[in-house]
Amino acid sequence: MSYVTGLRCRECGHAVEVAAVHACEFCFGPLEVAYDYDAMRGAVTREGIAEGPPTLWRYADLLPQLPGTTADDRVDLGAGVTPLVAAPRLGAALGLSDLWLKNDSANPTHSFKDRVVSVALTAARRLGFDTAACASTGNLAQSVAAHAAAAGMRAVVVVPADLERAKVVATAVYGPTLVAVKGTYDEVNRLCGEAAGEYGWAFVNVNVRPYYAEGSKTIGYEIAEQLGWRLPDHVVAPMASGAMLVKIDKAFGELVDLELVADTPWRISGAQASGCAPIATAHRGGADTIRPVVPDTIAKSLAIGDPADGYYALDAVRRTGGAMDDVSDAEIVDAIALLARTEGIFTETAGGVTVGVLRKLVAQGRIEPDERTVAVISGHGLKTLDALGNAYGPTTTITPTLDEFAAAVRLQER
Ligand SMILES: *Cc1c(COP(=O)(O)O)cnc(C)c1O
Ligand SMILES: [Zn+2]
Repeated sequence: MSYVTGLRCRECGHAVEVAAVHACEFCFGPLEVAYDYDAMRGAVTREGIAEGPPTLWRYADLLPQLPGTTADDRVDLGAGVTPLVAAPRLGAALGLSDLWLKNDSANPTHSFKDRVVSVALTAARRLGFDTAACASTGNLAQSVAAHAAAAGMRAVVVVPADLERAKVVATAVYGPTLVAVKGTYDEVNRLCGEAAGEYGWAFVNVNVRPYYAEGSKTIGYEIAEQLGWRLPDHVVAPMASGAMLVKIDKAFGELVDLELVADTPWRISGAQASGCAPIATAHRGGADTIRPVVPDTIAKSLAIGDPADGYYALDAVRRTGGAMDDVSDAEIVDAIALLARTEGIFTETAGGVTVGVLRKLVAQGRIEPDERTVAVISGHGLKTLDALGNAYGPTTTITPTLDEFAAAVRLQER
């Protein structure tokens, strides 16, 4: 069943039919997918969702599954329904008694991006595209290449030429057309924006962005379902463009609206790296407009200097009574280690940003000790090994004798 009625401008409300467009023809505002919520009411139920697959497609009724799409048409590697785990040891270290982690590093290509790409490519294929394209510095590239491969679509992935070798390999292995551009990520992005007008391709982050962005709502649905159809008190989410945070808030609102959860208040807070914190800076200054920055941080997956959804992220955080903050590269590395050592979860730099900011917000009293808090861990640590430098290695190196072994273990016990 599709409840999609078309696209609607978030600024002026102008409605258009489903197509590969992302900006309003009147005011240039962002277009968003529109649904018939009245028809959903009573028809979309907890039981129906529970009967769905153990992937984000269990929420298909709430997603831009365009009319005529069948389960077989989905571009689906199994993204979503990632673990929501209690984090008592990290909670104790930070001073929180009811902390949970939404571990999105468990997705097929090990980051949150699989959610948005699965939804975007499913819509793109239904709109008649056979090529999926993107500009990326890592996670999006891997996810687009993998999903396109599984769907038999062509992928065109554009990356900066100085991208780390591990990320190049983890993308190229899926067989996309991989174009390395001698330039900065901003230049790569601009090139893709221009190319999107020239080629009849689905650029996941440009002309099919309205569908892409909706995929992030599934984090919110899953958190609620995994808590037994209850909303948490507080969610802390990392922000690049700000879309994920905005969509988690939207998802909670929809669940309340459809009476799938009780109407309990939630707060949502945003995390950025100090080397790229345009949204957190605007929040701190009480500003409504975002001043773009030139990113300089190890948190590359969050390094968007001119965030498309920054304004809406500010609105969601202010409206719900949440907060924002940012952390330095050193604090990111500390937080990665803290999470690994307390909960056994190794996250990439974006997760370090989230845990680092979570720690700050608790220390500042902006998250209460007993609030049921969920932190979104959005990617796997093996993606950003370089960010840890040489800080982690063997405790000691020995020759293979029992004496040296005994000394090494004693050393460790002190
Ligand atoms: C893309 C990404 C995000 C969030 O991106 P938004 O543009 O804010 O939706 C968070 N974490 C990781 C690891 C990502 O790759
Ligand atoms: Zn408009």
